[in-house]
Amino acid sequence: MSSNNSERHIIGHFIGGSVVEGAGARTSEVFNPALGEVQAVVSLASVETVDAAVACAKAAFPAWAELSPLRRSRILFKFKELLDKHHKELAHIITSEHGKVFTDAMGEVTRGIEIVEFACGAPNLLKTDFSDNIGGGIDNWNLRQPLGVCAGVTPFNFPVMVPLWMIPIALAAGNCFILKPSERDPSASLLLADLLKQAGLPDGVFSVVQGDKVAVDALLQHPDVQAISFVGSTPIAEYIHNEASKRGKRVQALGGAKNHMIVMPDADLDQAADALIGAAYGSAGERCMAISVAVAVGDVADRLIEKLRPRIEALRIKNGVHLDADMGPLVTAQHRDKVVEYIEAGVREGAKLLVDGRAFKVENGEGFFLGATLFDGVTTDMSIWKEEIFGPVLGIVRVDNFSAAVNLINSHEFANGVSCFTSDGGVARAFARNIHVGMVGINVPIPVPMAWHSFGGWKRSLFGDHHAYGEEGLRFYSRYKSVMQRWPDSIAKGPEFSMPTAK
Ligand code: NAD
Repeated sequence: MSSNNSERHIIGHFIGGSVVEGAGARTSEVFNPALGEVQAVVSLASVETVDAAVACAKAAFPAWAELSPLRRSRILFKFKELLDKHHKELAHIITSEHGKVFTDAMGEVTRGIEIVEFACGAPNLLKTDFSDNIGGGIDNWNLRQPLGVCAGVTPFNFPVMVPLWMIPIALAAGNCFILKPSERDPSASLLLADLLKQAGLPDGVFSVVQGDKVAVDALLQHPDVQAISFVGSTPIAEYIHNEASKRGKRVQALGGAKNHMIVMPDADLDQAADALIGAAYGSAGERCMAISVAVAVGDVADRLIEKLRPRIEALRIKNGVHLDADMGPLVTAQHRDKVVEYIEAGVREGAKLLVDGRAFKVENGEGFFLGATLFDGVTTDMSIWKEEIFGPVLGIVRVDNFSAAVNLINSHEFANGVSCFTSDGGVARAFARNIHVGMVGINVPIPVPMAWHSFGGWKRSLFGDHHAYGEEGLRFYSRYKSVMQRWPDSIAKGPEFSMPTAK
């Protein structure tokens, strides 16, 4: 935390349709991870700042909720056009604050835009069922109505995509939304707010409060916040879920991950190795869907390692602004140190270090870089198997057969994503049916569902009932109401004391 902000760019909040700094606020430093320099500071909201955002949202809610879904979706259409226009600008902001390479950042923005495209179908999505004449002149239909003021708390690793998992669907359903982005890469949120305003969104319907635990707790405790969506690490997800639930709020809290890829002996090993390199080291492993464990079945491990080594050596690790970069730095020096500690723990616990990323240095020595790391001989008692590392570290676990691979994965506390590379349809089918994981890839390394499906893990990778976006997202952001109607001239004479049934 910093107190000397006199010459630094201050990243503020977006409340009531304009950017506010939050006078006298606490701040936190925002780095350019490729240069290792502080490039700005972000205001950290006080309880009063959160209260102001909630008050604006509450005031804006009745008119926004009353607007027809078609008119809401027209604003989202304009927002989508503006996102297309500012696609590169958003990607540059991501690269400069997160560190992921520009091409990857462009992909992140695309995946976010796809959710906006989905939400543009609000009139159709909010269409509901109608049962004509269930008996006695009565019809039964249902409505999906907005919840009110909703809040989203998002992680550093997708500063555009994850907020866009929430914002367009919450707004399409008629809610007001307050985003609390990660304090490590907060700038993209303000551009999103500006584009929503340019698209015609009324002031107060969308707000951004920058901040840390103080802001999150204020949102959790505020009686006018009806629902919280969280994406981040498992301990915080569990905390958010507990705190929101005990206050009667609707909550979905997506947590951490440890994603495995089974490599069967019959897999195309060039394809599997290419997939592993991208899925393990893309975005420097800072993806909740990154593959961090390869489960090598039978005799495949040595052949797989032969394929992986040259690919790791060929990785272009550099500042992500270069268009030929494959992998950039980690988000902060502190996070890099944590990943290095995991590498040390792996060595100490007896895993075989085949490629040591600690030896990697960028030419000018700047930034929070760490090279790609590969372990063999990882076992289930090691911390590098049990815990989420969230860095460019891939471990190989050797197992005898397919069912041992499935049992190993099913024994993990995390269950976000998983993949299996095989050329056997029977194995693929058994894998999809028997694996206890929320998102499954068959010869696909990172099976992030499309916008009209839904995203989420099982076990300690998701707390709550609903997955994110798609139909599950729409359900989360709307309240189901069943209506029965009958008109006076069709009402039967006299009271009825038995349970009403269809006649
Ligand atoms: P994090 O849990 O540290 O932070 C997430 C958010 O919570 C941030 O906005 C942060 O400001 C806030 N926060 C941090 N500490 C808090 C506290 N004590 N009380 C209340 N709020 C707090 O996560 P991160 O480091 O930003 O992101 C990486 C993590 O997110 C990884 O574990 C990754 O697996 C997970 N993630 C999961 C998914 C998913 O869909 N399951 C997607 C992306 C990231």
